Amino acid sequence: MASDPVRAEAVIDLGAIRHNVALLAGRAGGAATMVVVKADGYGHGAVPIARAAVEAGASWLGACSVAEAVALREAGITARLFSWLDLPGTDFAPGLEAGVDLAVSSRAELAAVADAAARTGVRAEVHLKIDTGLSRNGCPPSEWQALVKDAAAEPGVRVAAIWSHLARADEPGHPSIDLQAARFQAAYDIARDAGLDPLRHLANSAATLTRPDLHFDLVRPGIATYGLNPVPQREDLRPAMTFRSSVVLTKRIAAGESVSYGHTWTAAKDTTLALVPAGYADGVPRALSGRMEVWLGGKRRPVAGRVCMDQFAVDCGDDEPEIGAEVVLFGDGASGGPTAREWADTLGTIDYEIVTGMYRPRVARRYAGETG
Ligand SMILES: *Cc1c(COP(=O)(O)O)cnc(C)c1O
Repeated sequence: MASDPVRAEAVIDLGAIRHNVALLAGRAGGAATMVVVKADGYGHGAVPIARAAVEAGASWLGACSVAEAVALREAGITARLFSWLDLPGTDFAPGLEAGVDLAVSSRAELAAVADAAARTGVRAEVHLKIDTGLSRNGCPPSEWQALVKDAAAEPGVRVAAIWSHLARADEPGHPSIDLQAARFQAAYDIARDAGLDPLRHLANSAATLTRPDLHFDLVRPGIATYGLNPVPQREDLRPAMTFRSSVVLTKRIAAGESVSYGHTWTAAKDTTLALVPAGYADGVPRALSGRMEVWLGGKRRPVAGRVCMDQFAVDCGDDEPEIGAEVVLFGDGASGGPTAREWADTLGTIDYEIVTGMYRPRVARRYAGETG
């Protein structure tokens, strides 16, 4: 079936996002839900995802940087916002003025936030981060007591929460999860002993789905919002992104003819090739050359030869696709087509990297399933 041809387009189903967020918020039970929209909503578009998430029950949104969070506020998002990883020397004043809650991992960061609070006259809502074993940012346990004491004494700051992040929540039952939870409890006890009464949050998508005992006051799902399942068990999540292109040319080649740079693929018999105008500049990894299939004309068909910068060829056998026919590179897989997970497995990575990698200028974005 012919449709308007597209070069490389990510179609984002906001109905799927709402479905996934409602599922996660339901699982969160009494805990509030912070949907993580960092990196432009994992490549799906932060603002439309944020709006859909709020419609479906999220009361918080998580961003990587103050700049990402302020951009959400400027787009008219009124939910609570939280940002967790800024550069040394960042001016937190715009974040405070936009009402963004700020992560603090060190006394230096606390001082920078307190300085911004003094300049703006806005009290900072800070979430002190304890490193419970991921060993990225977060305050080491040896410095926690001092950080808590300083934060409690700082007039420009209110300790709204303490929080941490799990290393292996996608391996349910792994003992490191309980170890991190125990260290988190110890950090909480220290905060309580200092007279604080902070919220607690620890759970990413995987822990939201598998560890209700670790939901505390707030859960922070990212990947599951987008319909990609980080845990081994089946979950009713719907992948929201479909990556599509179109057939722009078909041609018959004779047995023995080879295709694309390096002639890595040779036709075993006479066959029809369909040319697809998307390549590694559009997020089709060259490493998938000869190792991927597309959904075209109601079935899976193999890519013939190398993926180039701007194009690749599909082996259609004796079928003759129409010019302009839709080519799905990955989608929700519901009708048997390829998925982002399949790409990730072939490439030895995770589907997070695949969808986030669609955040690039040559990939157009279109939204489906918008409400009113
Ligand atoms: C990215 C991120 C999340 C979300 O993780 P998922 O595995 O995508 O659910 C939660 N918290 C923090 C601090 C993060 O950086």
